[in-house]
Amino acid sequence: MTANRGRTIFERIIDREIPAEIVFEDDDYIAIRDIAPKAPIHLLVIPKRHTERVDEMTDAAEMGRLWLTAVKVAREHAADYRMVVNCGEGGGQVVFHTHIHILAGWQNGPESD
Ligand code: ADP
Repeated sequence: MTANRGRTIFERIIDREIPAEIVFEDDDYIAIRDIAPKAPIHLLVIPKRHTERVDEMTDAAEMGRLWLTAVKVAREHAADYRMVVNCGEGGGQVVFHTHIHILAGWQNGPESD
């Protein structure tokens, strides 16, 4: 069993019930700044359609659009970046609404700061 089933903090952000620093939004996606950044730039790209984890997405077009959106958001903030998806509790996932982490902004690469 995974924890945190039901309506997650990201759905509440999408519905404007709780505030977030939104850096991108369209009909299907929202991107926000992570509240506890683990890099100088730490963004989260979140599909509005609810799935708990990325491997629930079985439609290739939907998966492709998610990654293309993440790349677009990343490139608007950094030339180089790392993308991370935590999938399941054992993979470090805490919020069970699919999201991609964009991490960037280090002086000399991810291990430098
Ligand atoms: P992990 O915490 O291991 O990275 P996840 O992959 O589920 O787990 O990521 C959830 C992310 O959501 C965390 O980086 C956390 O800091 C971020 N977060 C939690 N609450 C908020 C919030 N209200 N606004 C922005 N980011 C949030």
